[in-house]
Amino acid sequence: MADDKVRDEAMQIIGMFQILPRLVVFDLDYTLWPFYCECRPKREMPSLYPQAKGIMSGLKEKGIQMAIASRSPTSDIANTFIDKLNIKSLFVAKEIFSSWTHKTEHFQKIHTRTGVPFTDMLFFDDEDRNIKSVSKMGVTSILVGDGVTLGALRQGLTEFSQNHNTIEKNKKVWRNKYSGKAPSSETDKD
Ligand SMILES: [Mg+2]
Repeated sequence: MADDKVRDEAMQIIGMFQILPRLVVFDLDYTLWPFYCECRPKREMPSLYPQAKGIMSGLKEKGIQMAIASRSPTSDIANTFIDKLNIKSLFVAKEIFSSWTHKTEHFQKIHTRTGVPFTDMLFFDDEDRNIKSVSKMGVTSILVGDGVTLGALRQGLTEFSQNHNTIEKNKKVWRNKYSGKAPSSETDKD
């Protein structure tokens, strides 16, 4: 599928949701591109997963910010590839450094840089341990099997909406509790 066709489809998917993340964060290796960049020579011309560019264009068109969180030990190669692929201007933050924390440090930095709360972020990554630790911070986190796809985007936005609704529901329960009103199943129905 051509990039603009993927972009249009991504915009259509995004248009189906009323509650949207403010920031979408991508891993690099095996999420945006199908290799470990540390194993590649800098002079190479890299390529992205087939739907990655179109999805990012769709998010941009819809006014959703994007960032990178990568544990690659070779940020110089990663940045060279990002330049070559002409996608650098898409990202409001790029945190690329190796770390023993499973990206919690990356997300703290992204939060400081952007001011976006963790609960307003959506994250795509191919490693389960990163997904587990980052989702504990309140970020909706989606494990990708074969790079980022339109299917993963749809799943991510669905889970983001569900998480948002759960948070709102809990807020309501706490408000009722605080005001002395018993949170019965009747009053908490949405
Ligand atoms: Mg990866």
